[in-house]
Amino acid sequence: MTKKVVVLGEAREGALRNVSFEAIAAAKKISGGGEVVGVLLGDAVQSLADEMIHYGADRVITVEHPHLKQYTSDGFSQAFMAVYEQENPEAVVFGHTALGKDLSPKIASKLASGLISDVTAIEGEGDDAVFIRPIYSGKAFEKVKNKNGLLFITIRPNNIAPLNHDTSRSGDKSSVSVDITNLRTIIAEVVRKSTEGVDLSEAKVVVAGGRGVKSEEGFAPLQELATLLGGAIGASRGACDANYCDYSLQIGQTGKVVTPDLYIAAGISGAIQHMAGMSNSKVIVAINKDPEATIFKVADYGIVGDLFEVIPMMIEEIKKL
Ligand code: FAD
Repeated sequence: MTKKVVVLGEAREGALRNVSFEAIAAAKKISGGGEVVGVLLGDAVQSLADEMIHYGADRVITVEHPHLKQYTSDGFSQAFMAVYEQENPEAVVFGHTALGKDLSPKIASKLASGLISDVTAIEGEGDDAVFIRPIYSGKAFEKVKNKNGLLFITIRPNNIAPLNHDTSRSGDKSSVSVDITNLRTIIAEVVRKSTEGVDLSEAKVVVAGGRGVKSEEGFAPLQELATLLGGAIGASRGACDANYCDYSLQIGQTGKVVTPDLYIAAGISGAIQHMAGMSNSKVIVAINKDPEATIFKVADYGIVGDLFEVIPMMIEEIKKL
């Protein structure tokens, strides 16, 4: 049976996050040839609707309201429910992002539905779709099937390839108006820390430093390498606890989960809590002066050496390319 699948697109600073396009690809599989409906919530998101269609959404519904300028779970759940009630889909796909992790269980529980979270791959299509998700901090994967009824899933960024961007795709665009009331929180202003460059959770290359980096200044060569490779900088909790960098860079069980094409771990021992956030990276390069460091067990390439010698050598070689 084909399904109607609703996908929540995520906008940040006037652009859609990649995970929105990956979610459309996931929705296509779940729909089994049915309809994929993109949903955009915000205060000015209509201009992003075409992008969802070019990535494969059959049509897009926008909900605009001044209270949707910043994410609040109250505001977004009211807006999303208005679309849900109009569309009555068989399945809903969110990104496994900070927003998706907050909103999806709230809506799924409101609708007395289950939720398959943190999906990294989908086998099969339509009713036969099987969802693959990591368990035990990434040490194993389980395969889950939706028995029946409404299906909610969140997909981990950087795992499901988006469809090709095709500007010849066309689709209907409409809007739903909502009266957003009873907000427990109204966000007056968001003051962002200056975040230069690539978003860590969606980066294709991550250069992460640990306590072995030894100081805030020690992160400079890692930053240079990340910039050269078009990637983002990350860190272990050891490095964050030691004040070498901000907690927003922390990767691991209590930090961000990343799945880049290339993960370079410098001066990181490989504690299980760190590996929970990076062990599914496609290629892992570890640089550590201790040949017995646990990180080498998950590394595809291990370099036993001083990171302050190895990283400048890597930078020099990459600059020659
Ligand atoms: P260390 O374990 O001190 O390792 C430093 C490494 O650097 C060593 O292997 C050393 O050989 C190497 N080194 C030193 N100098 C050099 C050099 N010049 N060149 C090359 N190598 C060098 N940790 C996380 O990362 N993320 C989490 O989300 C997280 N969540 C946690 C949750 C809980 C509940 C708990 C209890 C812990 C959590 N931790 C987390 C902490 C985790 O257990 C480790 O303490 C932490 O990951 C260690 O960080 P590290 O590898 O940078 O430091």
